[in-house]
Amino acid sequence: MPNLFIKQIPIGPMMNYAYLVGAEGHDSVVAIDTAWSADQIIGEAKKSGKRISAVLLTHTHFDHCNVVEELARKISVPVYVHEAEASTMPKDIDIRRTKKDLTIEEAGVTIRCMHTPGHTPGSQSFLVDSAVFTGDALFVDGCGRVDLPGSDPKDMMTSLSVLRSLPDNIVVYPGHNYGPTPMSTIGEQKKTNPYLYASNEESLM
Ligand SMILES: [Zn+2]
Repeated sequence: MPNLFIKQIPIGPMMNYAYLVGAEGHDSVVAIDTAWSADQIIGEAKKSGKRISAVLLTHTHFDHCNVVEELARKISVPVYVHEAEASTMPKDIDIRRTKKDLTIEEAGVTIRCMHTPGHTPGSQSFLVDSAVFTGDALFVDGCGRVDLPGSDPKDMMTSLSVLRSLPDNIVVYPGHNYGPTPMSTIGEQKKTNPYLYASNEESLM
């Protein structure tokens, strides 16, 4: 696996992060969670000398995808969405349905779709080499809300234990800047994130 290029972009009024991800030295990147400003996200890629070749959505809440249609039209790229939420997407863009364990080859990297529902039915995390982009499943020292329409607390518990089982060195890139640091690792989160202790069966006893 080549070295990763990752750009974390704080964006919009709700402390969201968009991400640009690809292989270092590759001419393209994927954009994860394109919300609030298509021009800013496209501009950030250009500043790094890269073009966006695809969009990946962790889930379809507006604060993660409210400019996806504008962006997909401006630069004409496919948009990967979990099959459980694909029907909520605009019909006039190139939607690619994902599911658990699908791998996507883009921007010189292999991206594995992990299904991590609970916040929404189609929430997914993207594992790219030693990085995982967790959307609103896992935050630094927190997790996404499970009291919204379509949320399921039990599914969230399962998803958190799936994320917890990743190797300790995997770097966690969350969908919002809600924690004490912009990113963390699975190993750190097992120590400091109460939702990761709670998804550990031993700690439930
Ligand atoms: Zn959300």
